[in-house]
Amino acid sequence: MSDSDKRPEKGGAKKSIARRDFLQEVAAGVVGAYARLPSSGHADFIFSRGRIYTSNPRQPWAQSVAVSGDRILAVGGDLEIAQYRGPKTQVIDLGGRMAMPGIIDNHVHFVWGSNSLTGVQLRGAATADQARKILHEYAEAHPGSGWVWGGYGYIGEINVSPRQLLDSAFPNRPVLLISGDCHDLWANSAALELSGINRNTPNPSGDVRGTIVRDGDGEATGLLTEGAKVLVARKFHISRTEQLAKLRAGLAHANQNGLTSVICATGDLAQMDLYAELHRRGELTVRTTHAYAEDVGVRHTLSAEELSAFEEARRLYPRSGNWVRAGVIKFFADGVIEGHTAALLEPYIGIPGYKGSTLYPSDMLGRQYLALDRLGYQIMTHSIGDGASREVLNAYEAVARANGARDRRWRIEHMEAISPGDWPRLAQLHVIAAFQPWCCPSLKFQYGKYLGADRLVESMPWQSIVSEGALLSLGSDWPVESLNPFPIMLTAIMRANRDGSSFFPDQRLTLDQVMAGYTRNNAYTNFMEDRIGSLEPGKLADLIVLSQDLYKIPHDRIGTTGVLLTMVGGRIVWRTAI
Ligand SMILES: [Zn+2]
Repeated sequence: MSDSDKRPEKGGAKKSIARRDFLQEVAAGVVGAYARLPSSGHADFIFSRGRIYTSNPRQPWAQSVAVSGDRILAVGGDLEIAQYRGPKTQVIDLGGRMAMPGIIDNHVHFVWGSNSLTGVQLRGAATADQARKILHEYAEAHPGSGWVWGGYGYIGEINVSPRQLLDSAFPNRPVLLISGDCHDLWANSAALELSGINRNTPNPSGDVRGTIVRDGDGEATGLLTEGAKVLVARKFHISRTEQLAKLRAGLAHANQNGLTSVICATGDLAQMDLYAELHRRGELTVRTTHAYAEDVGVRHTLSAEELSAFEEARRLYPRSGNWVRAGVIKFFADGVIEGHTAALLEPYIGIPGYKGSTLYPSDMLGRQYLALDRLGYQIMTHSIGDGASREVLNAYEAVARANGARDRRWRIEHMEAISPGDWPRLAQLHVIAAFQPWCCPSLKFQYGKYLGADRLVESMPWQSIVSEGALLSLGSDWPVESLNPFPIMLTAIMRANRDGSSFFPDQRLTLDQVMAGYTRNNAYTNFMEDRIGSLEPGKLADLIVLSQDLYKIPHDRIGTTGVLLTMVGGRIVWRTAI
């Protein structure tokens, strides 16, 4: 049963949502097939006169879609669908505009992203002075004594520590800023003090890997890398009310960008409970699946306590639900190339003999996968370096050999550097290629400098892996990248450098591949292909209307696409200019 069924809502609209969910649960869990609506009867909504991309290969395009309750009633030509029009049907004339299934994002950090929407943002700052100005303006505009959340990008070489930089605007109030790739963190003096970090605090060890970066005198600079970030992040506190408000802003932002479903790549029971509360209040407007994860640089232990939390998440939020779902376990196999924490097969350029290493000793990763597979979990593993990807593939292969065939749908995330010999292995092992495209690295910046020209040629081999037959799954990694799917589609299709040249163009993806990657492929990745990912009768009515036709504009304009309307489960949650 879904959380809504256990706590029936009072009031008409909410009650009908709860009842609809109940029908879905019964259909999915007991009967074993999703509920199909009768093929006649009146629609609540008809979207007509459109160019509707359905993502259903048997009927790729349509003019009209009829919606009844939270489901799609019919898909077809204008005349055919007009028969579902009744006195109360709302007709939305698309006027030739393109519509498509709601975007499913395969990898977001929704809480971090939602918090960053209203936090202090240094991503645009290129110098310490610019950063200082932004910090001071934020401090003035947001007085108070509680924690300040924010983010920072690449500021280059500065002769001041992050701690001093933050202290200049926030001498007393704790501040936590997450790096663009979410693997490092800046803390000011107040945050370090609250976290108990001083010159005598050792770097984390054992199941946690990371560094409290120090200056020449041994004082913490405020930069905490990988698992050391947790020392501060765990102390971060905002009230539940405030966190819910930030999540609501995140949900609105997601709907405005056309998202109707996300897979949260970091989560735990406490986070799932927040979404469940929003759902009970009728405020959850994005379907969420939650991977149980430790933070970056922190290993799973599969302790009895951890396993019972996984189990509890799966019991409370079963896969048969449509709004808050669990059952996925996320691993970090390594870190990032920019931090020298990704595991490579050959040494980093500039550090003779140093290849980095995986977060887990390889036998431990294999053992944990094996145990979780026996319990029927889906696994997703962050892997950036070619060494990490090799180990993960080897371990996935060993699980299939030991435990036999099963509908696993295990995934590997990112795969920025992956050895050409391993490209076909994803298809062979039925491993889902979960990409969050960004582009383009150059030899001028850390990523390219550390990998070197030879490995850069083989970097981000999206098309090679997919052409071999691996299933393509796409996402943003928000807030690492913008949540807006259209600039990401543009990146995937163009791989364009700033000067317009293309970064190893053979690896570009096609528009058709990208559309599938954001819709039906992600539904499959998420074990929801019976309910979402395409516009077909009986599926949940999740669809969006676009400002321009992706198939009619030049590819280089795809990134400017706007979303005019977003419908989730038959409910319009965003609408503008239509
Ligand atoms: Zn991520």
